[in-house]
Amino acid sequence: RRLTANELREAYLSFFESKGHARLPGSSLVPKGDPTLLLTGAGMVQFKPYFLGKAEPPHRRVTTCQRCVRTADIDRVGITARHATFFEMLGNFSFGDYFKREAIAWAWEFVTERLAIDPERLWVSIYLEDDEAFAIWHEQVGVPAERIVRLGKEDNFWEIGVGPCGPCSEIYLDRGPEFGCGAPSCKPGCDCGRFLEFWNLVFIQFHKDEQGQYHPLKRTGIDTGMGLERMLAILQGVETIFETDEVRRILERAAAIVGRPYGQDERTDRAIRIMVDHARAATFMAMDGIMPGNEGRGYVMRRLVRRASRHAWLAGVRRPFWRELSGCVVEAMGEAYPELRQRQALIERVLESEEHRFLQTLESGLAVLEQEMRGLEQGAVLDGATAFRLYDTYGFPLELTREIAEERGIRVDEEGFAAQLEAQRARARAARRTYGYLGSGDEESLAEAMAGLRSDFVGYDEPVAEAR
Ligand code: ATP
Ligand code: MG
Ligand code: MG
Ligand code: MG
Repeated sequence: RRLTANELREAYLSFFESKGHARLPGSSLVPKGDPTLLLTGAGMVQFKPYFLGKAEPPHRRVTTCQRCVRTADIDRVGITARHATFFEMLGNFSFGDYFKREAIAWAWEFVTERLAIDPERLWVSIYLEDDEAFAIWHEQVGVPAERIVRLGKEDNFWEIGVGPCGPCSEIYLDRGPEFGCGAPSCKPGCDCGRFLEFWNLVFIQFHKDEQGQYHPLKRTGIDTGMGLERMLAILQGVETIFETDEVRRILERAAAIVGRPYGQDERTDRAIRIMVDHARAATFMAMDGIMPGNEGRGYVMRRLVRRASRHAWLAGVRRPFWRELSGCVVEAMGEAYPELRQRQALIERVLESEEHRFLQTLESGLAVLEQEMRGLEQGAVLDGATAFRLYDTYGFPLELTREIAEERGIRVDEEGFAAQLEAQRARARAARRTYGYLGSGDEESLAEAMAGLRSDFVGYDEPVAEAR
C-alpha cells in the first residue's frame, strides 16, 4: 500500500528517532530573531544559531518536518512537476555529531529499505571535488560510479555569505527517458524533468571568512532536506507534486471552482496548480500571523493571493473563492497542522479581505483599460506603455491585458511592453548586485580546502560570539 502524506511524515521522523534523533516541531514561516530572512525556506533555518556557533543545541541530533515558502521558485510553479512556493521539508540534523558517513548511509537506508524504492532507479550527485562523499557512496553504499554525478557550486555547494558552509550531495530518481529531453548528456542536474531531485544532504565542513577564504571546521555538521511532496509523488506514482494525496484534495476543489475537470486542458491545469500552491502558501502564512501588505513578507503574501486570483480570473472564475479554497487547505492538512483549525476564522478573514481588495483593484484596472480602448477601432494596437502601467500599477500581467483587448479585436504592443519591463528588471538587477553575495568565495581556497591541503581549523566547538 502507498504511504499517505501523514504516514510519510511519521515514517521519516520515527526512522530518525530510531537513529538517536530528537523529534522537534517545525518552526513558523516567520524566522525568529533573524532579520536577514524574509521567510523560512528550509528546515535548517531555525537551527542557524547552532550551525553558526552562536548557541548551544539542546540535542546533537534532531529531526523535523518544516513548512517552507520559497518565492524564488514562483515562476516555475505550475510549469514544472516539482516546484511549489509552499512545500514541506523533512530533515535530519547533526550539530557537531555524526557526519557524511552516517548521513549518507541513513538516507540510503530510509529510501531503499524503509520506503523500498528500487536502488537501480537512483542517482546521486556530489560536489566536484568531494572525493570523500564519492568514496562513501561508491564503496560503502555501493552506488555504481556511472550513477554518481559531480556538479559544481551552483547545485552542490551550500553557503550563505560569511560563516559555516560546505558541499552537498543530492539523491535523484530517474523517472525514465519519457520524461527527459533526450540529450545524450542528460543527467541529474539537467532541468528537463527526467531526474527528480528529492533529497539534499549538506555537509557543513568549512567556515568562509570575510575575505572569501574557506577553512575546515573542527565541529562539522549535517543539514538535510527531503521534499515531502516530491517523495510522495514518487511513492504514489503520480506525475506531479500536485497530485499527491493531500494536495490532490485541494486540486479537486480548485478545479470545481474553475468549473472544469483537471487534466483536460494544459492552460487551465496550470491555473489550477497555481491556485492550489498559492492557496497553500497564503493559508499557512496567515496561520503564522502574516498579513498582506506592501512590504516584506506581507508583500510576498499579497503577491501570492493576487497571482492566484488573477489566474483564476483568467480561467473564467468570476466570484470570490478564497474562503472555500483555503477552507479546503485546512480540511486537507488540519490533522498534521492543528493550528490551521484553531486559526481558521482568522485565516479566512485575512484572505477574504485581501481578495476583496484585489477585486477592487481589478475593477479599477479594467476601467483604465476600457478608457484606453474606447477610442480604438478593431485591429488597432494598444500601446506598450499602457500595458506596462496596467502591469505595474494594477497588477495586470500582459496575458490578462491581451486577453481582454483581444475580445475587442485590439492587439497589444508587446514589444513596447517588453522594453519597459526589461528596463524595470535592469533596475532591479542593479539593486540586487549591491546586496548579492553568492558565488563570491575564493575558488582556489575552496579547492585547497576540499583537497585537505588546509589545516588551519576553525573551531565551532565553542560558541563563537562574533560569527555572523
Ligand atoms: P531543485 O534543484 O529541484 O530546484 P533545490 O536543489 O533547489 O531543488 P534544495 O534547496 O536542495 O532544493 O531543497 C531540499 C529539498 O527540498 C529538495 O531536494 C526538494 O525535495 C525539496 N524542494 C526544494 N525546492 C522545492 C520546491 N520549490 N517545491 C517542492 N519541493 C522543493
Ligand atoms: Mg531550487
Ligand atoms: Mg537542486
Ligand atoms: Mg538541492
